[in-house]
Formats: sequence, C-alpha cells, structure tokens
Amino acid sequence: MKGGYWGRIAWVNLTSESVRIDEFDEEFAKKYLGGVGFGIKLVSDIVTKNVDPFSPRNVLVFATGPYQAAAIASAGRWSACARSPLTGYWGESNAGGHGGPELKKAGFDAIAIVGRAEKPTYLWIHDEKIEFRDASKYWGMDTAEATDALKEDVGDKNASVAAIGPAGENLVRYAVIANDKHGFFGRTGLGAVMGSKNLKALVIRGTGKPPIADPDKLKEVYQEVLNKVMKAPFTKVNSEDGQAAAVVPREENGLLPMKNWAQDRWPEGAKKIGTPRFTEELKPARWPCAYCVMGCHRRITNPEYESKTAGPEYETLAMIGSNLLIDDLKALVRANDLCNRYGIDTIEVGGVLGWAFEAYGAGVMGKEETDGIELKWGGGEALITMIEKISKREGLGDL
Ligand code: SF4
Repeated sequence: MKGGYWGRIAWVNLTSESVRIDEFDEEFAKKYLGGVGFGIKLVSDIVTKNVDPFSPRNVLVFATGPYQAAAIASAGRWSACARSPLTGYWGESNAGGHGGPELKKAGFDAIAIVGRAEKPTYLWIHDEKIEFRDASKYWGMDTAEATDALKEDVGDKNASVAAIGPAGENLVRYAVIANDKHGFFGRTGLGAVMGSKNLKALVIRGTGKPPIADPDKLKEVYQEVLNKVMKAPFTKVNSEDGQAAAVVPREENGLLPMKNWAQDRWPEGAKKIGTPRFTEELKPARWPCAYCVMGCHRRITNPEYESKTAGPEYETLAMIGSNLLIDDLKALVRANDLCNRYGIDTIEVGGVLGWAFEAYGAGVMGKEETDGIELKWGGGEALITMIEKISKREGLGDL
C-alpha cells in the first residue's frame, strides 16, 4: 500500500468480545474507494436480504477515506453504513466531528461491528488497540453527557466520542449517532442499529501518521484546492454565518419546505429564523469539524439560548422550523438541542411532525390520538413535547 490507507479493517464481534484484523491491498482500496465504498463492500458481503436491521447479524461499519488525517481541507468527515431500520434497505450516513481522523490515526481504515453485547458496552479504540468496556453507568445518558463522561473515563480530553442517546437505546428508527456534540450520522437510523447491539459509544484516539505516497505532490494539490475553496463566495458565507444564511434566500426562490411542503411563501417567518437575526440573537461562534477551513457548525454563546450541542443547521431550521411554520427561534434552538441530546434526526422529526400537524389540522387526528397535544402549525411547545415523546417512545411518539 503506497499511501492513504494502513490496509487494516478491524472486525469487532460484540457477542464474543473478539477482534479480527483483516488486511487489504491497493486493488481493494481503489475498487471500493472512500468510506462509503468500504461500507458497501463490508455490509453487502455479510448482510443478506433476510437479515433484520436489529439482528446481531447486521453489520455496522465506520469507514474513512484515503485523505483522512492527511491535513487536507474538509477531509475530516467519515461514513457509517448498515442495513437501515428506517427503510429496511441500505443505510448510509456521513458525519463531521473528529472521529474519522482519530480512527485513522489509531491505525484502522475502517471498523466493522457485528453481534450484540450482553450488557451496555463502549469501545475504547486507541493506537491499534480495541477494548470492550462496560457502559452500564452511561446507558440512559444523553449524547452530550455521555461524551463528557466517556472522555473522562478514558482520561483523554482529546478523544473523539461517537455516542447514541436514549432514542438509539430505545430503538427509535431514526436515531442518530452523535460525534463530539456537533457532527451527526443523522440519516437512516444508524443510532438504533447501535442501540440494538447494546453499543453506547466508540471512544477513539490515535497518534499515528497514516502513510502518504508522495507528500510533496499532495501539498501542491492541496494548496491548489485550498486557494479555490478560500476564494469561493460560499466559503465566506458559511464561515461567517453558518448554514442559517441559506434560509432567507431559499424562501425567496421557493426551495424552503413550508407547511409540510404545501406552501410557497413565508417571508416574515424566514427572516425570524434565518440570518441576520440568527447571528444577531444567538451570537454564535464557529465550531469546525476536523481539518475544516469553513466551519459552518455554530456554538451558541448567548446564555439566554442554552444549548449543549451545535446550534441548528439549515436543514433543521427548514424541517422543524418553516416546515411546521414555527418562527420562534428560542423554541427551535431548544428543540434542536433536545434532538441532538436524545439522539434523533431533526430532518426526520420535521418530516414526521409535518404529516402529524397536517393530519391534526385536517381533523384526521384529534386530541384523543395526540395525548391531548394540540399539533397546530407554529406550535413550538408541541414540537418540544413531541420530541420528548418520540425519543422515549411514549403514546403518539411510539407510532
Ligand atoms: S464544519 Fe460544516 S463545512 Fe466544515 S466539515 Fe463540518 S459540516 Fe462540513
């Protein structure tokens, strides 16, 4: 292997608490290029059409690409794949945070997880070692609490934590895996796959340097790409204002989802939740993923808007904001933080509640079906209550 990969995939069996290292060659790396390529190969080799997503036979893969940890702009993102409990078919998601580079530096290009642990477990992955550790006392913690507690447990504040919250533990079919409180494997319910395996978290730290075939050439290409990226107007906007900058323009050009996709204008509402108001009110700071020069994630600094995780991104403002006609920024920040901490996908929550709000408005559902909650357009409190109920799978939240 010339560069980009160690040539090592760790197969972790949670049932037998065993690890097998498979080596691969350059031909394999080229054929299944990138994190998703590896995921497709490793999942589809094992998961046949009759394997239930919550079966111990489902394979959950976390994989990196060739540039991971090579100090290349925005090459810090990593991929997760498994059979999806949401669709029953292919499940794939890509996240920021810091876990991908740490996994690579720890000496693994990918980790493929099978089986089911007997009790709540977390994996401590560090410099070519993988330890199975008891996570019983962290089970039930939200993703932010678990992240802090697990870093303390391994005694390394620079470790990266990819954890599930109560929603993943409760097998909510659109549960996420939260990486370092601001990167999320959000789509296709991979957090529930982790929950079904009794796996609370991966805690990862590496100090190795992945091989680079031609460091001078890489530097040259990187500089060329970086120059283009830094000159792009999109980089400036995303860096200064984050993704909330997209709300008002998308309302103007008709791309913003509104009222369960049934409305085409909402100018006053968009102004209340997008920039510049978003930035003026929340006073957010940049919170970049590893190696990112843009840093679109926002750390909210205004104490009136308490949030332990990253502030809402464009898709969140769109799906739980405009799609439900909720223009109360405080409610949206709280709802976003709750989703992140319970570990459910904000996009999916907005989609499901868009349907529920519409059904309630049309009289298809009444208060008897909604446990007394008024699912009215613009209802920030109803949104927050429903996030709690979905995460805990209570009443209407357990549909
Ligand atoms: S901070 Fe934003 S732009 Fe940078 S890698 Fe993370 S998601 Fe992408």
